[in-house]
Amino acid sequence: MEYKLNDIVEMKKMHPCKKSKQWRIIRMGADIRIKCLGCGASVLFSRSEFEKKVKKIIPCELEIED
Ligand SMILES: [Zn+2]
Repeated sequence: MEYKLNDIVEMKKMHPCKKSKQWRIIRMGADIRIKCLGCGASVLFSRSEFEKKVKKIIPCELEIED
């Protein structure tokens, strides 16, 4: 599975705020932090947990350095 910083992702489970299905990857390391585009809340996953829960990846076209 290919994903990188700033990509937009859709998770199998929607955030409880129900404002958006999409999240942005805001930090990548041993763990991955994603931010809900609906409310701005962020959630941390381990890479294996993230890959289990992600449904779709929409690659970011911009190369933004962290
Ligand atoms: Zn939210």
